[in-house]
Amino acid sequence: MQIIDHIYIDGAFVTPHGDEFFDLFNPATEQVIGRVRLADAEDARRAIAAARRAFPAFSRTDKRARIDMLKRLHAAVIAKEDALFEAIVEEYGAPVTRGRWMARHAGNVLIEAAKVLEDYAFVREAGTAKVIMQPLGVAGLITPWNSDAGFICGKLAAALAAGCTAVIKPSEMSAIQTRVVTEALHEAGLPPGVFNIVTGRGETVGAEISAHPDVAKLSFTGSTLVGKTILRSAAETLKRVTLELGGKSPMIVLDDADFDAAVPLALDAGFMNSGQACIAGTRILVPQARLAEFEQKIMRAVAGIQSGDPRDARTSIGPMVSRRQWERVQRYIRVGIEEGARLIAGGAGRPDNVSAGWFVRPTIFSDVRNDMTIAREEIFGPVLSIIAYRDTEDAIAIANDTSYGLQAYVCSSDTARASAVAARIEAGRVLVNTLAHEPAAPFGGFKQSGIGREYGAFGIEAFLEPKSLLGAA
Ligand code: NAD
Repeated sequence: MQIIDHIYIDGAFVTPHGDEFFDLFNPATEQVIGRVRLADAEDARRAIAAARRAFPAFSRTDKRARIDMLKRLHAAVIAKEDALFEAIVEEYGAPVTRGRWMARHAGNVLIEAAKVLEDYAFVREAGTAKVIMQPLGVAGLITPWNSDAGFICGKLAAALAAGCTAVIKPSEMSAIQTRVVTEALHEAGLPPGVFNIVTGRGETVGAEISAHPDVAKLSFTGSTLVGKTILRSAAETLKRVTLELGGKSPMIVLDDADFDAAVPLALDAGFMNSGQACIAGTRILVPQARLAEFEQKIMRAVAGIQSGDPRDARTSIGPMVSRRQWERVQRYIRVGIEEGARLIAGGAGRPDNVSAGWFVRPTIFSDVRNDMTIAREEIFGPVLSIIAYRDTEDAIAIANDTSYGLQAYVCSSDTARASAVAARIEAGRVLVNTLAHEPAAPFGGFKQSGIGREYGAFGIEAFLEPKSLLGAA
């Protein structure tokens, strides 16, 4: 049982002013494994004040100093990789292979930002003017539970690279992972106040950060609903806002695709991060003429996918993070059935032989119409919808008929043809015959999947404002 009763403000671990305790669970066993004392709005204000004090000196550090700091942060995080991995498996329930990737990713994003900074020009010319990219000020970074360490480190890396100081509010459900990351980041010995980490509730700490006049920039990853609330609060002081929100990503299987390649790709994209991924390919678009063939192959393949104990190396789908999330996924499975979709794998309830833990059966519906609830709303669990299309034009229309636009996938034997389709998809990233991540490329959503971009130079620029100097030396 871990008791977490400190937050991180001004370079020190301090007792929060907030006095509410919140239970932490192992989602694979439903057992309480810890308790966290939550920060409140007063703690948020203290953290913002510390970041504000640190900003003038930090914003004037040069590129070399910041690259050095990012490298120290990277070294500190990778030194704690094993502890982070344990926390991710225990508190989040990530299957071991995924958990290991997530623990490494948290370090990688820091070193990637250092690399981008090497080549980044803070001063440019525009006609006769000199343009200086200037850090915005204190950045509020609000992150979700589905990749706690990765989001904390990724947003922090971009903010610091730009010269901003930060107040981070992670999800209250990830406090054990956050503790490991915070202890690691502290080891890097950055000046006090440059980053502060206050775990608390969204409605209190998150709301305070979103509204506070001394916060110049918000970077939020989470649900579209909360993203809109944050944007409204931020409007009052015209904060710059980056929102990375939900998705309902299409996996477009073109009629020439080799199904022996397309089926595993569709399952990996759909069940990524146990289905709790904003970029999961949850709408699988299949040519009507080859639907039966695709169904046969995917039913065979899904039978070999294990949803269960995250510590079992054969498991690729771990539990949902919380009872609430499990119930939400169960509700969508029932809604899918009620609306007339045809269940071809999985269904409601826990997998066979599993008596505890928030596990979901890997579930696939066919005969889904794009206007059904399960095709329109983000489920955030291992539930996929197969939607049949007539021809390529129809596939593109269905793919784009969504309020989201985060990511899309195209699968074909002809890369040129797939690329032509990709060009017509309204999404921030389109992956052709691959699931590979490119850290230098911008990431973010079209439409209601968000505003702005993360990663690479685009991610750093989200924390900068151009300033033109005319007539200056
Ligand atoms: P959430 O929106 O409920 O919470 C995200 C964060 O916002 C948490 O830290 C939460 O405490 C905080 N928050 C809640 N209410 C707030 C408020 N009123 N003001 C300020 N902060 C508030 O999301 P979640 O359930 O933690 O995460 C799942 C969601 O995140 C999914 O919808 C998923 O698509 C999205 N997500 C998006 C991306 C992306 O990059 N686009 C990545 C991962 C997850």
